[in-house]
Amino acid sequence: MNGPEIHVEFAPELGLFLPQRRRTGATKVVTDGVSTLGHVIESLGAPLTEVGALVADGRAVPVSHVPVAGETIEVRPVTRPQRVPGAPLRFLLDVHLGTLARRLRLLGVDTAYESTDIGDPALAARSAAERRVMLSRDRGLLRRRELWAGAFVYSTRPDEQLQDVLDRFAPELRPWTRCTACNGLLKDAAKDDVVDQLEGGTQRSYDVFAQCEECGRAYWKGAHHDRLEAIVEHAVALRSKRR
Ligand SMILES: [Zn+2]
Repeated sequence: MNGPEIHVEFAPELGLFLPQRRRTGATKVVTDGVSTLGHVIESLGAPLTEVGALVADGRAVPVSHVPVAGETIEVRPVTRPQRVPGAPLRFLLDVHLGTLARRLRLLGVDTAYESTDIGDPALAARSAAERRVMLSRDRGLLRRRELWAGAFVYSTRPDEQLQDVLDRFAPELRPWTRCTACNGLLKDAAKDDVVDQLEGGTQRSYDVFAQCEECGRAYWKGAHHDRLEAIVEHAVALRSKRR
């Protein structure tokens, strides 16, 4: 390319998306003179879902800004908590984020999850149709224009993933109200309603049950309850600390 030269400086938070030499300070970029700033930033490696304000020579500009020669562009990270206007906050997770999906549901956050790989176009279409924020570690997926909104999941560890999503979007928490298997809402259930799903021991030991309105799955405070309770308590404690 032989067009205008600009300088681009990325916030440290965006460094992991960039080649080493672009991670600190303002570095020179030669553009084609017609591409938007959004396109230039993406071509350097940073997904726009992770980009907040753009500042050109001290003034805020939109992603549609076409850089002109000599400009210095500052690329900031998304602000936290990030507001996603236009719909109740809900999520769609790709096939690699099953544990995170179950934990978000445990906290009562509306979370759709595809347990099979339906492909990027289908995921993006579902995000748009249901107005869900697409969560993924796949930058190619996050670049798709059809997405309602998207966010990169920074960690590979479910504990850190959950903390990151809660910190970034501050969703309302309603623990123990959703089915971790299908995202359906839970209702109180009598033992008789769910007895066919219970083993003898469970049937004798428990009296309080809930049942998914969508898939019918029964819930009770069984063997895994302490571990789940710890996840819930940690998330709720983290939230009240931030308030
Ligand atoms: Zn269910």
